Amino acid sequence: MLGGGGRTILALAGLALGIAAAASPARAQDVAASEAARRAALIAALPADAAKRVFGLVAEPSAGSPRSIGSYAKGCIGGAVPLPQEGPNWQVMRPARNRAWGHPALIAAIEHLAAGLPEGWPGLLIGDMGQPRGGPMVTGHASHQIGLDADIWLTPMPAGRLSLAERENLPAGSVVAADGNDVDRAAWGPRYHRLIETVARLPDLARMFVNPAIKRALCRETANSPGADRDWLRKVRPWWGHDDHFHMRLTCPQGQTLCENQDPPPPGDGCGKDLDWWFTEEARHPKPGPPEKPLLVSQLPPECAAVALAPPAQ
Ligand SMILES: [Zn+2]
Repeated sequence: MLGGGGRTILALAGLALGIAAAASPARAQDVAASEAARRAALIAALPADAAKRVFGLVAEPSAGSPRSIGSYAKGCIGGAVPLPQEGPNWQVMRPARNRAWGHPALIAAIEHLAAGLPEGWPGLLIGDMGQPRGGPMVTGHASHQIGLDADIWLTPMPAGRLSLAERENLPAGSVVAADGNDVDRAAWGPRYHRLIETVARLPDLARMFVNPAIKRALCRETANSPGADRDWLRKVRPWWGHDDHFHMRLTCPQGQTLCENQDPPPPGDGCGKDLDWWFTEEARHPKPGPPEKPLLVSQLPPECAAVALAPPAQ
């Protein structure tokens, strides 16, 4: 629970309103402008102490040493650091979203990956990471809350690099066939397989998410490899969406005592009947549950209310 009850909630709401006014979108680009309008409408409909409102409106990280707090889908991060918008082998996409923040371990993992990319993959286009203080987001993603998750596009960075306008507006391209049963053979190729395998072998990777059709292709392409050479497939998990990007998730960095790891993926390569389930009617059209109530700040680990209210990093 929050100490100070209503007063803390009012303080959080005031903080949120103040920052919203300061951060009104100035860019006239289509994607950024329409996303901002959608976000504003969604935010207006949320209670003042909804975690995605409070964390979605904070434009800067909190001061202090980096700490991932809670679990991937219920937590926050203090002392987050940004991934530079452009690096030798990467560019950040949709910069207006301000979601290229994370624990230094995530920044290091992305820089390490970018420095050792496989043949055919000249650079990474980085999608959503975390918000400046983590927490749930107003649009998209149940996870990405503690600075250890990142989406990376399944589009290689073009040799000439993208302009700022292109980074805001370029649509992501799917590598999955229209029927969802397999990869799109016109798009897919060995370089996609190599990239995903490289990520799956990163030492700090907890798991990664790809479209079930991509997992199916990876299983087929490794069918003749001996067991030990297939171990990396265990961490490549099928999930809805993820046809134009994959999601990488790191384990809690050493010494992060408030960070909660997830159970590791079940043993095996995940290529058998568990994968088949993803192509059933039940998986394709899951019955909608009751609408979810938005998570309140008081439902996150108690340290997250303090992170939300902490002064910004200098
Ligand atoms: Zn993701």
